[in-house]
Amino acid sequence: MIITPKTRGFICTTAHPDGCAAHVQGQIDFVKAQPRLEGGPKKVLVVGASTGYGLASRIVPAFASGADTLGVFFEKPPTERKTASAGWYNSAAFEAAAKDEGLYARSINGDAFSNELKAAAVAEIARAMGQVDCVVYSLASPRRTDPETGEVYKSCLKPIGGTYTQKNVDTDKAEIEEVTIEPADEDEIAQTVKVMGGEDWELWIDALASAGVLADGATTVAYSYIGPELTWPVYKDGTIGRAKIHLEESCARIADRLSPSGGRAFVSVNKAVVTQASSAIPVVPLYISLLFKKMKAEGLHEDCIEQIRRLFGDHLCGEPGLDDAGRIRIDDWEMRDGVQSHVAEVWPQVTTANLRELSDFDGYQSNFLKLFGFGLGGVDYDAEADPLRGIDLVEF
Ligand code: NAD
Repeated sequence: MIITPKTRGFICTTAHPDGCAAHVQGQIDFVKAQPRLEGGPKKVLVVGASTGYGLASRIVPAFASGADTLGVFFEKPPTERKTASAGWYNSAAFEAAAKDEGLYARSINGDAFSNELKAAAVAEIARAMGQVDCVVYSLASPRRTDPETGEVYKSCLKPIGGTYTQKNVDTDKAEIEEVTIEPADEDEIAQTVKVMGGEDWELWIDALASAGVLADGATTVAYSYIGPELTWPVYKDGTIGRAKIHLEESCARIADRLSPSGGRAFVSVNKAVVTQASSAIPVVPLYISLLFKKMKAEGLHEDCIEQIRRLFGDHLCGEPGLDDAGRIRIDDWEMRDGVQSHVAEVWPQVTTANLRELSDFDGYQSNFLKLFGFGLGGVDYDAEADPLRGIDLVEF
């Protein structure tokens, strides 16, 4: 079939298998062009491994330090007539490249929040890897079914304590508008914490450690975001921010649990990048467009792969530098004074008329399409593409 993008807002319902493969290969090439990572992990479990930060967290240890990887994700497989979701194609391409290098690379497609999937991961690690020495937790999900009660919790992106009105870009129309979000009630806050907080990360570590498949001295990391004050009402101080506070509390509990055997747990605060998760957050796409313009001009631009290479190279493979709250900060370049003061200065000036001049909105859009395998060099988008691509899945 000829595959074209079908986008509406922050959703794209098609994905290009060869484009996704090219996107993954570009990230692999970047990692291989860097020095190899000595002392990097050798057996890695990545939960949320198919797109965004999780995919980069699978690529870096595999191609910088020759790690075997088990990836967990929730993606839609292809049919003869419908494309798979992008993360499926990314994972197919990753596995093929990793296997070419002689690395173990298998995946589990399903609900990472469930007890059944965790049991399948434990069994596969015991069978094929023995133990894992690194666990990356990079889930971004709108809902979670509690594995014990069956109750379904939904996360939301809302302010707390007051209405939030801010500038926003309508990404379909390329128009600046104003968005107003009503505050969350207590139940919405609690549900968001259930989904995006650290409870499930703790359950993963519990499951792995109790089964004896977590190596002594293992490292685990999960991701957070802080960003600029103008997004705080909908991010840091909003419902998702509450979930991230819970994630940090979970991190401390996991660290206590792992430290007797030399293990370590970290929250890494990462920079704003274009992913399926971040494009769904109001205000953030406009902020990213302004941020990218400045960071590109300063030679500071990074996407997921550059960020995660820095995370492993500068922090996880040795003694990490931590902020006052004990977190790794790879958002340090984003948060530099010169970058933030520029964004704050331009923010009130941006209008529909000058959007493309003052911001890197075009870069934002092309980055968004690349998430789904569109707009990659070397791919013939007019040619027939076979939507069927296989993954070496662990059945459960
Ligand atoms: P993403 O949407 O690109 O990836 C989410 C991953 O989770 C995918 O692999 C998806 O398949 C998987 N997933 C979702 N629900 C699942 C389920 N029920 N079972 C199994 N897998 C499931 O997201 P991302 O932006 O890379 O976010 C990953 C983490 O990074 C999040 O904690 C996010 O808050 C954090 N973060 C993101 C940014 C950003 O700008 N995107 C910045 C800082 C931190």
